[in-house]
Amino acid sequence: MKSDRAFIVGRFQPFHNGHLEVIRKILKENSSVIIGIGSAQYSHTLKDPFTAGERHLMISSSLEAEGIYEFYLVPIEDVNSNPLWVAHVESLTPKFRKIYTNNPLVRRLFFEKNYEVRSMELINRTSWSGTTIRKKMLEGKGWKDDVPKTVFEIIDEIGGVKRLQDLSKTDEDSI
Ligand code: ATP
Ligand code: MG
Repeated sequence: MKSDRAFIVGRFQPFHNGHLEVIRKILKENSSVIIGIGSAQYSHTLKDPFTAGERHLMISSSLEAEGIYEFYLVPIEDVNSNPLWVAHVESLTPKFRKIYTNNPLVRRLFFEKNYEVRSMELINRTSWSGTTIRKKMLEGKGWKDDVPKTVFEIIDEIGGVKRLQDLSKTDEDSI
């Protein structure tokens, strides 16, 4: 139903064109979307280079630039207990009954709590993947076309590529 609120969770490291397309699709079927920024406490690692605040800015600026305003952004820290995770999410978000996910564990956990679980088709996954984009950044390859323009500008402004490349060094290198 178009009046529904739906939920999607990801780490958004970084927010890319695949995420943007999925959010557009969700908003065709629902009146608003709650976007959980997962593993919110992590940053400055190769898998999770950007802070929750930086990811919040990437997502909100990109969606607003596209004229999309029907979203709620909620940073969600890990709880490291699968049975407690759904209750943890519920304690932080507006109420929802429908979740979009491809992650088998997330699917299972919400299914067991009687949520309506929908899967999403992966779009242009060879390029639109956080892991692939982080790899390109590390290798100094082009990734500009894989993310919304606003995300490119934010990562450029915070020196995100240099951050990732610095993180890949070990302290042994400098000796
Ligand atoms: P990583 O490689 O770091 O896991 P990711 O691209 O999978 O990054 P996530 O933050 O893990 O991004 O994804 C959040 C949600 O968005 C997941 O449910 C994922 O399936 C979905 N998603 C990611 N990329 C795409 C895409 N290209 N098309 C459709 N959905 C996508
Ligand atoms: Mg993923």
